[in-house]
Amino acid sequence: MKKFNIVLIVVDTLRQEMAEKLISKAGLDSGLFSNALIFKNCIAAAPWTLPSHVSMVTGMYPSEHGSHETKEIKSLDIAKMRIKVPTIVGALNTIGYSTYLISSNPYIHPVYGFDEFQHFTEETYFTDLQGHAIEVPKRLKPMLAKYRAKFGGSFFKIGFAMLRDDPALITEVRGLPKTALLTFRNLLKKLNAKMIEGWPLEKGGKETMAKIRAQKIKKPFFYFINLMEAHEPYIGKKGKDFDLLTPYFKKQPGEALIGEWKKRYATASIMGLKYAKQVATDLIERFGEEDTIVMITSDHGQSFGEGGDGFIGHGPCLIDEIVRVPFVLKMPKYFKKVKTDGYVSHVNINNFIEAAINGDRNAAAKLISDKVYSETFGIQSNFKDNHEVDMKRARKYDKYQKREFGK
Ligand SMILES: [Zn+2]
Repeated sequence: MKKFNIVLIVVDTLRQEMAEKLISKAGLDSGLFSNALIFKNCIAAAPWTLPSHVSMVTGMYPSEHGSHETKEIKSLDIAKMRIKVPTIVGALNTIGYSTYLISSNPYIHPVYGFDEFQHFTEETYFTDLQGHAIEVPKRLKPMLAKYRAKFGGSFFKIGFAMLRDDPALITEVRGLPKTALLTFRNLLKKLNAKMIEGWPLEKGGKETMAKIRAQKIKKPFFYFINLMEAHEPYIGKKGKDFDLLTPYFKKQPGEALIGEWKKRYATASIMGLKYAKQVATDLIERFGEEDTIVMITSDHGQSFGEGGDGFIGHGPCLIDEIVRVPFVLKMPKYFKKVKTDGYVSHVNINNFIEAAINGDRNAAAKLISDKVYSETFGIQSNFKDNHEVDMKRARKYDKYQKREFGK
């Protein structure tokens, strides 16, 4: 057994079409990455964050791992959505790996069952759990600045101190989350959102990079990283990004706003890819090119109305813009290269890792299947409560769909 270090970086919400345009610009096909394999047909197992990430760590499609929405179960039903099956993290722990998770995405969190990592770092908090942009009320800013100066980046300490000063703050959280814990987390995220320089395009990637750089890491390790730069919001103003999930809404955005979103999506995507490359480069340089395997992918894409009934955003729709994602693989020279035009699914990551640490020189072939799938079970959030929803349109998407790719 050769215990290679394994790095899995998810540039959240990055569609294949956008990644293809930006990979060279981000330097993911040159220098240290000139021998990387850039797969052309990677299909996300699900069209939104949670089920897609669960597929990455369990090796199962959503219908097998069960962490997915239904007509009745929505993303805040944590008890029903959290991981219920064994993961690669547990398996790697038992064979002596150190396991690390750093995530800017609120779903990739121990409360949703990502609790087997030995080291967990929660990054920045820019949306609530339904994906809405968050703004800090003006009147809170002085208080926030005071505790920010005192406690630095420790959002728990800041949050507790602010709640001590003004317990009524807890009632200000938008919507009504189902548990007190989430209410509290949402509040904290709300307080922290605007503390990030460069928000809304910068969503924590820079901090993530710095934290990993300064972190003591024990090898062999498995490092799972989620970067949120490419995820909405792109503008960050109420009435603009708030309407991103328009297929369910009565009001459609105009061409100009969609054009603006697309432009900013490109900027945010290049930021995400550059952070991914930098984090990967740092880890390779620290732990050795011949000892480290890096995967860079995304959990789903993003649609700006190009197909699928003018769908905007991501979620219950299995169109190319949402399910086709990039997959970059950088391996030690020990491994054989494979053709990059086959279909790759994240459910194969487990088998790939297992083969690689068992010394199979052809391990990369395990990523490829003749047929791969993407599944949705409906709309992930229960946003009826918050918005004026066009229910006729919503119902159209609130059902099981499966798309097959391959021979
Ligand atoms: Zn996502």
